Amino acid sequence: MSKVLIIGAGGVGRVVAHKCAQASDVFTEITLASRTESKCKAIAAEIAFPVKTARVDADNVPELVALLKKEKPKLVINVALPYQDLTIMDACLEVGVDYLDTANYEPPDTAKFEYSWQWAYQDRFREKGLMALLGSGFDPGVTNVFTALAAKKYLDEIHELDIIDANAGSHGQPFATNFNPEINIREVTAPCRHWENGGWVETGALATKRSFDFPEGIGPMNIFRMYHEEMESLVKHIPTIKKAQFWMTFSDNYLKHLEVLQNVGMTRIDEVEFNGQKIVPLQFLKAVLPDPGSLGALTKGKTCIGVIARGIKDGKRKQVYIYNICDHEECFREVNSQAISYTTGVPAAVGGIMMLTGTWHKPGVWNMEQFDPEPFLERLSVMGLPHVVLEGEWPEL
Ligand code: NDP
Repeated sequence: MSKVLIIGAGGVGRVVAHKCAQASDVFTEITLASRTESKCKAIAAEIAFPVKTARVDADNVPELVALLKKEKPKLVINVALPYQDLTIMDACLEVGVDYLDTANYEPPDTAKFEYSWQWAYQDRFREKGLMALLGSGFDPGVTNVFTALAAKKYLDEIHELDIIDANAGSHGQPFATNFNPEINIREVTAPCRHWENGGWVETGALATKRSFDFPEGIGPMNIFRMYHEEMESLVKHIPTIKKAQFWMTFSDNYLKHLEVLQNVGMTRIDEVEFNGQKIVPLQFLKAVLPDPGSLGALTKGKTCIGVIARGIKDGKRKQVYIYNICDHEECFREVNSQAISYTTGVPAAVGGIMMLTGTWHKPGVWNMEQFDPEPFLERLSVMGLPHVVLEGEWPEL
C-alpha cells in the first residue's frame, strides 16, 4: 500500500495526479491538496481513479503536519511553488514521510535559487531514515538523468555539458508563460551564470544568443543562455565537467513583451504602495496574465529538451546528444494539459515510483544524477516520455 499526497493543484499538479492514477500498481491511494480545494476537486473529477482532495496552506507547518498525520502518506510530491519547499520538508521530517519536488527553494523576497537551503537538510533526513529527492521534473530532473546516462554508458569523462530546452510550440496568445508566471519571469530575468573551469561566470540575463538546429523537423531556433539550477548539482556530483551551460528558446514576441514589462517595472518583486495597500508588481502581473493551465487547449507544436555531453571515451573525443520530443496536443488529449506541465509532471510521478518501489531509496537528500539512470528512463518511456540517443558532432555553443 503506497499512499501519495500531492501538494499543488496547478498545471503540474494536474499531470502528476493523472499519471499517479495511471500507475495505480504503485500509488494505491492518492490525495491532492492545495490552497484552493476547488482546483483539486476539478482535477479529481477528470480522473477515473478515486482522488481525495484537501485544502492546505503549505506555508504553514502546523497545518501541513495535521494533514500528514490525518492522511498518513508514504510520500509527499510537492508541486506547489518553490517558496513552499522548506515548510513541506519540515513537516515531512516532523511526521516521518518521504519528500519529492521539482524546483529548488527560493526565498520570496530575493530572486535567487540554489540548493544550499535544501542540502542543509541532509543530516536530518538521514538520521530519521527518510529520503528527499530534489528536482524530479524535466529540467531539473530528466536533464540530470540524461547526464547520468551519458556518464554511465557513453563517456568515460564528461568535459562539457550543454542543456538545451526548446519550446517549438505556440499558444497564439500575445504574451503568456508556460508555467507559473511569477516563477518563470523571476528565472528568466535573473543574471545568467554558467560553469567554466571550476567557477561560475556571470553575464547579463539572456545576453548570449546562439542558433541551434533541433532534430526531427523542428529545425533551427534561437537559444539564449541562462542560469538553471541543475547545473549546480551536476558540476558538484560529476566533477569532470569543466563547462556547463543551459540554453532556452524564446520567441522575439516573448522577448519584446518581457523587455517592456521590465522597463515599466512590472517584473519588480519588491512591494510598492498602491491605493493604500502594498502590492508586488510581479504578483499583480501574474493575476492578469493567462493561467498557464488554460493554455493546454490552445497550444500546438512540440518541445525538445535534452543534453549534449562532450568528453572522452576510450581516450578519444566523443559527443552524445540525448533528448525527448513531446507534442503539446497529444499531452492535452491525454491529461488536459500542455507539454510543459506534462514534461514536468510525468518525471515527478516516475521519481515517486522509483522511491516507493525501493528502486531509488536511501536516507538523505539527493539529486537525480546520484541514482542509476536506467530504471528511471525505462519507466519514463513507458509513461509517455521516451528519449533518443544520438552519437555525432554538434557545433560548440
Ligand atoms: P501553478 O502556479 O500552476 O500551480 C501552483 C499550485 O500551487 C497552485 O495550485 C497554487 O494554489 C498552489 N500553491 C501555491 N502556494 C501554495 C500554498 N502556500 N499552499 C498550498 N498550495 C499552494 O504552477 P505550476 O504547476 O506551473 O508549477 C508547479 C511547480 O513546478 C513550480 O514549483 C515550478 O517551479 C515547478 N516546475 C518545474 C519544472 C521542471 O522541469 N523541473 C518545469 C515547470 C515548473 P492556488 O491555485 O490556490 O494559488
